[in-house]
Amino acid sequence: MSAPAAPPPAATTPAALPTQSAAASAEAAGLPLAAGLPVAGAARVRRAAVRLVLMDRRAFAAMIVLNGLAAAAGLLGPWLLGRIIDQVRAGAGVGTVDRLALVILAGALAQLLLARYARFVGHRFGERTLTRVREQFVDRALALPASVVERAGTGDLTARGTADVAEVGTTLRDIGPEVFIAAVQALFMIGAVFLLDPLLGLCGVSGMLGIWFATRWYLRRASSGYLAEGAANSALAEIIAATASGARTVEAFGLQRQRVAASRDAIEVCRRTRFHTLYLRTVLFPSVDVSYIVPVVAVLVVGGVLYDHGVSSLGAVIAAALYLRQLNQPLDTILMWVEQLQSSSASFARVEGLGLAAEPSAVAVPAAAVPTAVQAHAPVPADDRIDLSGVHYAYDGGADVLRGLDLTVRPGERLAVVGPSGAGKSTLSRLLAGVDAPRTGTVTVGGVPIAELDPERLRRQVVLVTQEHHVFLGTVRDNLLIAAPAATDGELRAALAAVGADWTDDLPDGLDTPLGSGGHRTDGSQAQQLALARVVLADPHTLVLDEATALLDPTTARHAERALASVLAGRTVIAIAHRLHTAHDADRVAVMEEGRLTELGTHDELVAADGAYAALWRSWHGD
Ligand code: ADP
Repeated sequence: MSAPAAPPPAATTPAALPTQSAAASAEAAGLPLAAGLPVAGAARVRRAAVRLVLMDRRAFAAMIVLNGLAAAAGLLGPWLLGRIIDQVRAGAGVGTVDRLALVILAGALAQLLLARYARFVGHRFGERTLTRVREQFVDRALALPASVVERAGTGDLTARGTADVAEVGTTLRDIGPEVFIAAVQALFMIGAVFLLDPLLGLCGVSGMLGIWFATRWYLRRASSGYLAEGAANSALAEIIAATASGARTVEAFGLQRQRVAASRDAIEVCRRTRFHTLYLRTVLFPSVDVSYIVPVVAVLVVGGVLYDHGVSSLGAVIAAALYLRQLNQPLDTILMWVEQLQSSSASFARVEGLGLAAEPSAVAVPAAAVPTAVQAHAPVPADDRIDLSGVHYAYDGGADVLRGLDLTVRPGERLAVVGPSGAGKSTLSRLLAGVDAPRTGTVTVGGVPIAELDPERLRRQVVLVTQEHHVFLGTVRDNLLIAAPAATDGELRAALAAVGADWTDDLPDGLDTPLGSGGHRTDGSQAQQLALARVVLADPHTLVLDEATALLDPTTARHAERALASVLAGRTVIAIAHRLHTAHDADRVAVMEEGRLTELGTHDELVAADGAYAALWRSWHGD
C-alpha cells in the first residue's frame, strides 16, 4: 500500500472509452493524436528516476532520515498510551501518568518540527530535480533533428514541454513529498504493530487487504472513466459554443431543432460519463472506509483473546488498535494522490521519451541514405556541391510524391524550380534543407547526407528561407546570436545594415533593446529583416527559397526584395519559383511534374525546346 505501483500504460491509453472516439479523448487529455515522439518504457522511466535521485542523493538521504525520525516521533503517542494503561493497571500513581503524558506532548512537538523540516527538505529536493528535468528537456528538444520535430508535429513537443513538465513538477514539488511522508508514516505504523505483537501485525495487514483490492478495482477503471468525462465535457462545450457563435447561420437555415437535438445528445453523454465516475467513487470510498475499520476490529478481537491467555498486555492491544486507526490518515493521503502519481508518471514517460527521439537511432533516416563512411564520425562535407540521386520520398507511408530525382546543383548557381501545384516542389525544398531525408536515394552536400548534419553545421551549409519570421523574446542581440553565437557587435551591426534594418540604429538601447511584448514591437517587415540578418550571420553557402511563403505584402515587397538580393549575393540559390520572372533570371530552370524532373536547362534552352516550360512561359506572357 505504501509504495504506489508503477503506472500501467492504461493510464494514458484511451482505447477503452465508452463514449467518445479515442482521438477526441486523447485530445481532451492533452495527448498527442499522431504517433509522434516516442514515449519512454517503464524500465527507462525507472532508470531516469533513479538517476535524478542519485544526482541529489544527499538531499534525498536527508529527506528519508528526517521523515523516518518524524514518523518515529509520531509512534510515541499510542505506545505511551498503552504504557499508561498498563502502568495504571499495575497500580501506578498520578505522577507516572503525568510524566508519560508530558512525554507524549514532547513527542508530538518533536514530530511537528521534524515533519516541517522534512517537508522543507522534500520541497527543495523536488524543486531542484524539476529544474534538472526542465534543463534536460530543453537540451534534448534543441538536439532533436528537424526531421523528427517536423514528423511529430510541434504540438506534441509543446505539450510535453508545458503540460507534461508542469505535471511532473507538481508531483516533484508538492505531491511527491506528501506521499513520501505518508508512505513512511504508514510503514512505521505497520512496523510498530508488528513489533508490539507479530500476530496483531498480521491481523492488521490482512484486514487491510480490502483497501488494496478496492483501490485496484477503482484505478483500473478510473483513468478511462475520467478521460471519457473530460472528452464529453469538451464536446458539450464545443457544441454550445459553435451554436452560439453560428446563431445567425442556425437561424438562416432553420437548424434550431437539429442543434437542440445535438446538444441534448451531448448532455446525455455527459450525464452518462458523470454517473459512471460517480459510481466508481461510490464503490471506492465506502469500501475503503469499511476497510479501515476491519483491521482495528480484527486486532481488538484477536488481541482480546491474546490478553485473555496472558500473551499480550492490554496496553499493547490498545496501542496496536490506535496505530491501525491512525493509519487511515497516511493511507488517505496516498489514495488521494495515487491517480495523480499515475498520470504524472505517464507525463514523465513522455518527457523522457524525448531522450529516445534525440538519440541518433531514432532519427527517421533510412540506413541506405547514410554512407558507411560517415556513420562512424560526425560527417564533414567535402565541398558545397549539392547532389540528388535516385530520390524517392513519401509522406508517412503514402504513395511516393518524389519519384526518382537526379540533380546536381553547382556552387554559386541559381536554380529555379517550377511546375504545377502538387508537383513536389515544396517537398523537394524540405529535403534540400535537411528537414526530411529521402525514402530511398541520397540528398547530399559535399558527399554528406544533408539530413544527417548536426544543426550547427547544417545552418552553415543550407538555410531554408520562408515567410515564418519568428522574433524570439529577448533583445535584438539575442535574436541575432541564434544564428552565430560567436558574432561580435560589429558583425551583428553589419548584418543588420546589409538587410537595410536602419530602424535598429534608433532603438533606445541599441542591440540590447528587448523585442516583443514589453519591449520594441517589430512589424512584419522588421521581423523579416531580422530573419534575413540571421541568414547573413549564419552565412550558409546555399539558400533554399520557398517563394510562395517568402512573398511579402506589396507595400514591403520592394524593400524586402532589396534586402533579399543582398542576402542572396554570392550564394547558391535554389528558388521554388511561383513567379516565372524568377525562373527567367535564374542560371538554370528545373521543371517538375508529378514528382519527376521533366526538363532542365537555361530559360532560353527550355523555351527553344518548346516543352512544358515553353508552354508555361507563353501562357504567362499571354502570347
Ligand atoms: P508543390 O510544392 O509543388 O505544390 P508539394 O511538395 O507541396 O508540391 O506536394 C507534393 C505532393 O505531396 C502533393 O500531392 C501533396 O498533396 C503531398 N503533400 C505535401 N505535403 C504533405 C504532407 N505534409 N503530408 C502528406 N502529403 C503531403
